[in-house]
Amino acid sequence: MFDYTLTEEQERWKKLAHDFARDEIRPISLELDHQEDPAKCAYMPHLLDKLDKVGLRCMSIPKEYGGGGVDDLLTHCIVGEEISWGDRGATGWMLSSTKITHLLTSDVLSTKEMAEEWLPQYVNDPTFMIGTATTEPESGSENQLPYNGVDGGYRVTAIKDGDDYVVNGKKHFISNVGYAKLMFTFVRTNPNVGVEEGASLLMIPMDLPGISMGKVHNKLGYRLNQNAEIIFENARVPSKFLMGPENCGVSYIRKHLRGDALINAAGQIGTARAAYEASVEFAKERVQSGRPIAEHQTIGVKLVDMYTKLQAARNFVYYAAWRQDMRHEFPPDPPMTLSASAFAHEISCDVTRMAMEIHAGRGVQRENFIEKWFRDCHNMLFSSDGGNNMKKVRAMYSLLGHWGESDPSHNPVVKGADVSAGDGL
Ligand SMILES: Cc1cc2nc3c(=O)[nH]c(=O)nc-3n(C[C@H](O)[C@H](O)[C@H](O)COP(=O)(O)OP(=O)(O)OC[C@H]3O[C@@H](n4cnc5c(N)ncnc54)[C@H](O)[C@@H]3O)c2cc1C
Repeated sequence: MFDYTLTEEQERWKKLAHDFARDEIRPISLELDHQEDPAKCAYMPHLLDKLDKVGLRCMSIPKEYGGGGVDDLLTHCIVGEEISWGDRGATGWMLSSTKITHLLTSDVLSTKEMAEEWLPQYVNDPTFMIGTATTEPESGSENQLPYNGVDGGYRVTAIKDGDDYVVNGKKHFISNVGYAKLMFTFVRTNPNVGVEEGASLLMIPMDLPGISMGKVHNKLGYRLNQNAEIIFENARVPSKFLMGPENCGVSYIRKHLRGDALINAAGQIGTARAAYEASVEFAKERVQSGRPIAEHQTIGVKLVDMYTKLQAARNFVYYAAWRQDMRHEFPPDPPMTLSASAFAHEISCDVTRMAMEIHAGRGVQRENFIEKWFRDCHNMLFSSDGGNNMKKVRAMYSLLGHWGESDPSHNPVVKGADVSAGDGL
């Protein structure tokens, strides 16, 4: 049933991604990470054209629109691991390509005309990136649940005026801002009710008047991926950019998306693997008390622990991805996806911490990669796909089979919201 052998095609993508990470990403990773100005850390200007030439940038786009036609999540995880072995922050293009594909090929959220108009543009323009915007200064984790109080959720409003939506407010922490040409943006189309009745999804071209980039966030890690604010000031977005019904709500949108959060989980494994490999080499070379430190049990056993954690996480994540790829045979299993992702994020922090311990004084020097990999993994623990806490809260409700409606004092969510709503966005 579960074949552990990669197909020839998967082997080809894996090698392509690994060679690219080794030759094009790793060599520029530290220098970009060390830029004081966060707006100078982004890898995009350096890599998008090259990614395009080798066929990686559009790997997810269906062949009928000129892309690589990679549909399965498992291959994306394999590629994500390799790219993140080069640099964790250099995976933004992958999520850009999978998300635009999943959104614009959705039967419910998109139309054939939208796909025909935008996917070829994406393929033909090597600088084309997208982003997805949920988070705002006043609403972070609650967007992951859904919390359905009128007081919570998106404050960015999109009020219908003639044939346009007039958009106002601020999103923050958003990946790819400054490079994204389209921003899939969650907005409040009815601010008088909770997000399950009053939120909608708009695909917003970022060059419309009234849209600007605010502050670029200066992050601990994942610095090669640019995160910034988006400011909407009376931006008029034509109503043809509405995705799905107006006021359809967050659960509805999530339910009709194919998830891609496991790509981030595989990315964590890639960065942790880089730290493990460097630790093995270092432990074989560094001699203390007359022998390589790998032969001191404190260090040798730590290497085994790192190896074990990596294997366990990879097997879990790849299995969860394979299960999603077999969606026509298995029912959705959100706790599987969410816990595999949470586990991979946790072990990546464990493994990079152990790598620092093995490298000791050298591990904390900024000219080495070790402390960078540690920062990159920890950065994502709290933020990737809503952060580990929210993944676990969602997995918990999903395991319980309901969103906590039976406890009115808890009151986090709308009655009857779909616990199985997907893991993307
Ligand atoms: C590198 C990076 C990339 C990002 N990319 C994007 C992006 O592309 N698009 C986008 O929309 N957002 C993005 N984000 C935002 C990210 O999704 C949020 O940071 C995340 O959802 C957490 O929100 P918050 O930071 O406001 O934390 P808060 O919501 O303020 O949470 C603070 C703490 O309280 C906990 N907490 C909050 N509510 C609950 C609850 N009900 N039950 C239990 N614990 C709770 C949280 O787990 C957390 O530990 C990104 C963030 C970063 C750092």
